[in-house]
Amino acid sequence: MKYFLSIDQGTTSSRAIVFTERGDKVAVAQQRIQQYYPQPGWVEHDPEDIWQSVVNTCQQAIAKAELTASDITAIGITNQRETTVLWDKSTGKTIHNAIVWQDRRTHDFCEKLREEGYQDKIQQKTGLLLDPYFSATKIHWLLDNVSQAKQLLKNDQLCFGTIDSFLLWRLSEGKVHATDITNASRTMLFNIQQQTWDQELLDLFSIPESILPEVKSNCSDFAETSLFGGCIPVLAMAGDQQSASIGQACIHPGMLKSTYGTGAFLLLNTGEKPLMSKHRLLTTVAYRINGTCHYALEGSIFSAASTINWLRDSLGLITDARESETLAASLEDNAGVYLIPAFAGLGAPYWRADVKAMLYGLSFATTKAHIVRAALEAVVYQTQDLINVMQEDGAESPLVLRVDGGMTKNQWLLQFLANVTGINVAKPNNVETTAWGVAALAALHAGVYSSLDELATLWQEQQHFISEESLATHAKESYQQWRRILLHHLL
Ligand code: ADP
Repeated sequence: MKYFLSIDQGTTSSRAIVFTERGDKVAVAQQRIQQYYPQPGWVEHDPEDIWQSVVNTCQQAIAKAELTASDITAIGITNQRETTVLWDKSTGKTIHNAIVWQDRRTHDFCEKLREEGYQDKIQQKTGLLLDPYFSATKIHWLLDNVSQAKQLLKNDQLCFGTIDSFLLWRLSEGKVHATDITNASRTMLFNIQQQTWDQELLDLFSIPESILPEVKSNCSDFAETSLFGGCIPVLAMAGDQQSASIGQACIHPGMLKSTYGTGAFLLLNTGEKPLMSKHRLLTTVAYRINGTCHYALEGSIFSAASTINWLRDSLGLITDARESETLAASLEDNAGVYLIPAFAGLGAPYWRADVKAMLYGLSFATTKAHIVRAALEAVVYQTQDLINVMQEDGAESPLVLRVDGGMTKNQWLLQFLANVTGINVAKPNNVETTAWGVAALAALHAGVYSSLDELATLWQEQQHFISEESLATHAKESYQQWRRILLHHLL
C-alpha cells in the first residue's frame, strides 16, 4: 500500500492528512491560523504562522499514522486561493503579512480601473471580475506601500506567490519558485485562453514578470522536500475548490460539485473551452493534466453555514448546528417565512455589496423553527440561482450535484436541495474531497493510476437524494417566491 500526504492550507486552519492510495484516511492533524484585522476591511495572515502550522501538522500526521518520510510516496498541496505573499529570494523571509483573499483594501483601485473601462478586457483574459478578491491588486498594493519590496525589486530579489508557491518555496528550501495553473488562474495576471502570464495585465498593475512563479500543470514534478526526515517529492498542487472538484471526480463537462461550508462554492466543469459568463460567474481553470486543460464556471454563496452559526452564536435559537435539521423537519412547510441571507452582501448572480439581510413573512405564529428552516432553505435557493445562470451561460445541464462540506450532514437540506433543483444530489463516501483531490493527483502522477478516469472510479456514493414528486412542485414555487422577495428587496 502506498501513502500520500495532503497539505490542505485553508483560511482558518492548516490540515495535513495521510491517505492510502485508495483514499482512505490514515491520520489527520490540524492547527488553527491566527486572523489579523489591522483595519476595517483588511484581513491578513502571518506567513510564518502558516508555515509553522504546515510543518507541525505534517510532522504530526506522519507520526500519528506511525509512518516515516520514506513511507510517504508523495505530497500534494491544496490551499486557500488568491492570498498573496511576497518574500526575499535570498533569505526566504517574507516582507509583509499575507494579504488574504477576503481583504478589501484595494477596492478604490479596482473602482478606478473599472471607471477606466478595464473590466471587459480583464474578464476576457482572466475569466475573473475586477475585484480586490484576486491577487493582482494586492501585489500592486504591496509594491506601492512596502519600501522593502521596492528595494528587493531593484536587486531582482523579490518573489511573489500564492500560498501554494510560498509553501513549495519553503519545502524545497528555496530551490523552486513555481505554482500550478489553477492557482495562477486566480491571480488576475494569468491569461486563461493562452495559459501564460499576460504582459498587458502585468503592465497595467505595474508588476514585473520576474517576481512571478513558473506555472505548471496540476500533476508535475514540483519539488522535493527533505524536511520530514527523508526525501519526499511534491507531485501535485491545486487551489482548494479545484482540488475538491477533483476529489469529487468532476472530470468531465457537465459535472457539478458544491461544497457547503462557511460559504458555499459551486464548480461546474465546462470542458476544454473557457465559457465566459454573462452573469458575472467566474471562469477558471478546473485542471490541466497531461496537456489537457478543462475549465469551470464558478459561483459562490457568501453565507451558508455562517448563517446557521449566526442563529446559534448571536441569536441563540439553537445550541448546535445539528438542531437545524430537526427544527426544519418538524414543519410541514415554511408558512411563508423567508430569509434573504445578505449578511455580507450578495454574490453571483446579484453582486450587491450594499444590501443587508432580511427576514420576511413573520407573524405571531412564527417560531424559531420557521427562522431556522428559512436559513436552510436560503442556501438551497442560492444554489438554484447559480445553477440557473450556469445554464443561461450555455453550460451543459448537470445530471447530478455532488456535495460535500460540513452542512451536508444535514439530510433535510440535501433532500430539499434535490426537490428544488430537480437534480439528483449525491454525497460521496470520502467527504474529505478538498484534501483528497490533490493526494489523488499525486497518486496519479506517481503512476498508481493510469488516467483521471481510472482515478474517478474510486469515487463512491454514500447517499443519494432524488426529488420527491409530491413535494417538488411546492418546493419550486417556494423558490420563485423567495426570488420575488429578493428582487423586491434589491430595488
Ligand atoms: P469550513 O471548511 O468553511 O470551516 P466545514 O465544511 O467544516 O466549513 O463545515 C462546518 C460548518 O458546517 C459549521 O460551521 C456548521 O455550522 C455546519 N454544520 C455542521 N453540521 C450541520 C448540520 N447538521 N446542519 C447544518 N449545518 C451544519
